[in-house]
Amino acid sequence: MTLLSACATNKITGRSQAMIVSDETAAKQSTTAYNQLIGEAGDKRLLDEDTYQLSRVQSIAKPLIKKAVELRPEAKDWRWEVHILKAEEVNAWCMAGGKMAVYTGLLDKIQPTDDELAAVLGHEISHALLSHQAEKLSRAQMQKAGLAAGMLAGAFFGVNLSSIAPMADSVATLGLQLPNSRQAEAEADAVGIEIAAKAGFNPEAAVTLWQKMMGQEGRAAPEWLNTHPDPASRIAAMTIKAQQLMPVYEEAKRQLHDGGSTAQALEHATPAP
Ligand SMILES: [Zn+2]
Repeated sequence: MTLLSACATNKITGRSQAMIVSDETAAKQSTTAYNQLIGEAGDKRLLDEDTYQLSRVQSIAKPLIKKAVELRPEAKDWRWEVHILKAEEVNAWCMAGGKMAVYTGLLDKIQPTDDELAAVLGHEISHALLSHQAEKLSRAQMQKAGLAAGMLAGAFFGVNLSSIAPMADSVATLGLQLPNSRQAEAEADAVGIEIAAKAGFNPEAAVTLWQKMMGQEGRAAPEWLNTHPDPASRIAAMTIKAQQLMPVYEEAKRQLHDGGSTAQALEHATPAP
């Protein structure tokens, strides 16, 4: 019963999620940690060093956030923010509440096109939009509380939390380094690709991005690779989704070109699920 009362149905996916830790709590803690991280990165000259890349990332994030808010209206009140952190790792993330980072390792090693960068950001924004961080923290909390393994089996979706190394810094403890379940990754793939297409970015870039990540031979971020023992099926799913979204993308592009309002036209262009 305790577990049942701790579950909430996600309004976007319709999936029941373990929610002992609320989205609001996750966002509040994330903001504190994010500000600290950004402050430290600034002191160490690891923040937004490349102003061209920063404005590029920001200008790609902006239309994605707009489409994200259309899916989850209360996200318009989030204090959305994106910075570039100088770090080797091929990584990017979006915390609960919309605080984002892209690592220079991703920009340098993957050399993403604008469409591919939109695929990365769309995916990460979707994790926040779908409350995946709060869900991960809730699962960790439940494990800590020592609930019976059998009760948790359904909520864990096969994620092995015991494999997580002790975490040092505050950002890590906020669940960013906890693996998402395969189901959560599939959701972020699907919603992310949709947001990107609606914002006028080529949905097929999600597929080429994934292929580039694979080319990193295991050096890419765990966030992208480790929870997916079957990358072929992920690519297949994204390829199908991208094809479905091509009319949405074409329409968004046309609207952007015409300088008209995209929202109305896109409503009619959305393909059947
Ligand atoms: Zn992910």
